[in-house]
Amino acid sequence: MSEFERLYVFFGVWVALAIVSGILFRRASVETKRRWAPRVTILTGFLFVGFTSWVMGSVKIIYVIAPVTALFVFISLKLVKFCSKCGAQYQSWGRSNNVRYCAKCGHDLREAESNLAPPNNALEQTRDG
Ligand SMILES: [Zn+2]
Repeated sequence: MSEFERLYVFFGVWVALAIVSGILFRRASVETKRRWAPRVTILTGFLFVGFTSWVMGSVKIIYVIAPVTALFVFISLKLVKFCSKCGAQYQSWGRSNNVRYCAKCGHDLREAESNLAPPNNALEQTRDG
């Protein structure tokens, strides 16, 4: 298979993956999105590294592509969140969140995030107090 034919396979799989994940995440529940989005992100990272190596016909390219892809996957896993009320996707760095309200439904996202992850010493304070 020539490099151009492999490139067509790469783009075909990439477009199919985009369509399937787009349909899945448009219709799925919040819990399903939260459960599957990290897995799809990691799978996409592995596919990208594998396809890039396959299309270019070089295993050594993995040494360059893998760390960059891992960085993007890590950032995506940390950044992408879903509104607990409507399931809309938004980007947030957690406690320093600059997105206050959901753009789709207006839900208070800071309140939702603070309910998700209480500080580690929160339980100890209530026991001691
Ligand atoms: Zn929302």
